[in-house]
Amino acid sequence: MFPQIWGVIFLFTPTVFSELFKDPELLAGFYQGDIKAHPIRTRNGIVNQIYHWPNRTVPYMIEDDAFADSHYREILRAISIIEENSCVIFKPATEMDFPMALVITSKGLGCNTVHLGYRNKTQVVNLEIYPLGEGCFRIGSIIHELLHVLGFEHQHVSQNRDQYVSIQWKNINPQYNINFVNNDNSTAWHDFDEGYDYESVMHYVPRAFSRNGQPTIVPLREGAENMGQRFYMSEKDIRKLNKMYRCPDHV
Ligand SMILES: [Zn+2]
Repeated sequence: MFPQIWGVIFLFTPTVFSELFKDPELLAGFYQGDIKAHPIRTRNGIVNQIYHWPNRTVPYMIEDDAFADSHYREILRAISIIEENSCVIFKPATEMDFPMALVITSKGLGCNTVHLGYRNKTQVVNLEIYPLGEGCFRIGSIIHELLHVLGFEHQHVSQNRDQYVSIQWKNINPQYNINFVNNDNSTAWHDFDEGYDYESVMHYVPRAFSRNGQPTIVPLREGAENMGQRFYMSEKDIRKLNKMYRCPDHV
């Protein structure tokens, strides 16, 4: 059904491979590691409502036989965390919902999302099987992919990022430079007046796509202790989501 997902080819040096292997959001072959389609971006949230899920509702289908019960429940737990912190709803898809539904599968490599936001076509998230708490099955990694689904881009490519982080180009494996590009002047993305967020579950780790083990993203200000965390939605993540989806009781 989604043949483009399964054809991933990745060629790493042993060093890069071991770095990336620790963080399956950073697998090669995808734009910014875990997004398959090239978006436009400036800050990190889509403003245009045509890219928001209608009625704040994401019809989803967790693919049959893709997950053990424990992993299935962990996906539902990530969904619950988003629902409890916003007015966004995930509901099991019916036939009527397709093709505009989210399919969650484990058949591809790494953790990734095909599109950013609602694109009037089937959305797909891949969560490669890892033990619970590791790789794609860190609760924050699942939430991260679901926030891509809802319309969020990576924090470190927001247009104002150079005030907050210094990108260490010399340490980036050159073939992955595009994952740090930040040159789009579109106004279609916004920070919802929440500002830069080191703690965002959408921020990359300090050594993302490093070629030599040295940092690629160096924070320039205080408060970056949890940069790249994949444990929880930050307070700003929650507020941005609620502003994006105009959740009346949550903003
Ligand atoms: Zn991502």
